[in-house]
Amino acid sequence: MHHDTPEQLQEKARQLVAEYVSKVDDLKPKERTKIPSQDMPAQDPEVRVHNLDEVALGYTFEQAQVEAIRCLQCVKKTCVEDCPVRIDIPGFVNHIAHGNLDQAAGVIKEASLLPAICGRVCPQETQCQQNCAVGKALKDVEKSVAIGRLERFVADWERKTGKISVPEVKSATGKKVAVVGSGPAGLVVAADCRREGHHVTIFEAFHKLGGVLRYGIPEFRLPNDIIDKEIQTLSAMGVEFKTNFVVGKTRKLKDLMEKDGYDAVFIGVGAGLPIFMGIEGENLVGVFSANEYLTRANLMRAFDKGHADTPIYQSRKVAVLGGGNVAMDSARMAKRLGAENVYVVYRRTEVEMPARKEEVEHAKEEGIEFLFLQNAKRILGSEDGRVNAMECVRFELGEPDASGRRRPIQVPNSEFMLDVDTVIVAIGNGSNPLLTQSTPGINLNKWGNITVDENQKTSMDRVFAGGDIVLGAATVILAMGEGRRAAAAINKMLAEEIERERKQ
Ligand SMILES: Cc1cc2nc3c(=O)[nH]c(=O)nc-3n(C[C@H](O)[C@H](O)[C@H](O)COP(=O)(O)OP(=O)(O)OC[C@H]3O[C@@H](n4cnc5c(N)ncnc54)[C@H](O)[C@@H]3O)c2cc1C
Repeated sequence: MHHDTPEQLQEKARQLVAEYVSKVDDLKPKERTKIPSQDMPAQDPEVRVHNLDEVALGYTFEQAQVEAIRCLQCVKKTCVEDCPVRIDIPGFVNHIAHGNLDQAAGVIKEASLLPAICGRVCPQETQCQQNCAVGKALKDVEKSVAIGRLERFVADWERKTGKISVPEVKSATGKKVAVVGSGPAGLVVAADCRREGHHVTIFEAFHKLGGVLRYGIPEFRLPNDIIDKEIQTLSAMGVEFKTNFVVGKTRKLKDLMEKDGYDAVFIGVGAGLPIFMGIEGENLVGVFSANEYLTRANLMRAFDKGHADTPIYQSRKVAVLGGGNVAMDSARMAKRLGAENVYVVYRRTEVEMPARKEEVEHAKEEGIEFLFLQNAKRILGSEDGRVNAMECVRFELGEPDASGRRRPIQVPNSEFMLDVDTVIVAIGNGSNPLLTQSTPGINLNKWGNITVDENQKTSMDRVFAGGDIVLGAATVILAMGEGRRAAAAINKMLAEEIERERKQ
């Protein structure tokens, strides 16, 4: 597919701004929907497969303004209803249309703490942009107002112009909150509880903070300096961090409360347990869980050949099993780490693939090959125990199953061999068991996820939980939403306690 260069996109946007900006308040809906949607400028695929820099380059001010002018400012705000944290989308978009970026940032910040991250990784096409009136009028969800790109634009503008301010922290309450896990859920809880003046400590098992934002989602989709900035803000607010600290092993959860004096605990340990296929050959050298593969690449800097302590496995032909975002990230990372051929092996068709469309497009542009209606049957190895082939089998689609997707049915005698030296398994993640196994008294469901009430409270007194450990592998914005709710409940509980103590 042909894409305009960033310069061409900017030139077109400049012309559109000249045409529309002076009449921004007077345009009729029909005129607005005629304004072309603004493509995201991106790095050239042939260049980007050799670097880890961000693929999407972000809108210019002119592009953002044109895109914002497309918004119909609907009375029934479906975009807000479809946003898990209810950002006043028409409100901030209208500020961009009028060039008031400070105000736009203010509106977003009322509802979302991490807009630079959500603007990049939220599945907008199934959330805020899904029922956008512009997309509906043009009968194409991809032509909806690009709300995510606009959110990202405002957040980046704020960061680049040094306008991010450190939120105010109330005077010390003497109460202590422990946050276990530094993923998006934990970060949000830390910020919201610290604001109320409580002492907050984040305990993180890894040596770096950010959870999946850091070790899962690659730099080419979410640069590390954005996560660093969020952590710096928390640090400036006085949040304390303890890394290399596995709650449940380094210290038991109950000891944090009984011995270390924490008044409340939030558990946001995520869903980091890889699930394997259970097929022959999965223990061969050269088979990785997506989790391990991406963690080696992102966190241990395995791409930094010659310098990294944990060099990545040298691969020539890679099969990635699965069809979600994690599979796309693994495949695109493998390409960047030097693989010549990367196959995504998925047992249904492109239509059923859960990965975001944009990620699939990007992967295709980068030369990733998709093997639809196929799946791995067994992995074969050489005498020294290394992968040297994968036996696959073909599928066809039958009737819809419980998920509403058509069920893949194996085609008899359709086996064939795929020449690969690396297999990355990206078929899903289970809940992180380390903490829950060592914490009797915490109720789990049959998948090992922590069960909570409507305030994110667990079965244990003063212990709350949220994000993937509650939802199962979900999304950044849902994890943040749960964190927000938990923090509100923790703050309420501690405020009532302070009030009781004051009266005594
Ligand atoms: C490769 C990949 C790509 C993804 N892409 C997207 C995307 O594009 N858009 C999107 O919305 N979502 C995406 N997701 C999902 C999203 O990242 C998660 O839903 C989200 O990060 C969950 O947040 P969380 O705070 O619950 O947990 P996590 O981000 O998993 O963080 C949990 C943290 O807890 C730490 N921890 C675990 N156990 C302990 C312990 N016992 N003691 C101390 N610390 C502990 C872990 O080390 C980790 O840092 C992706 C996930 C992956 C794996």
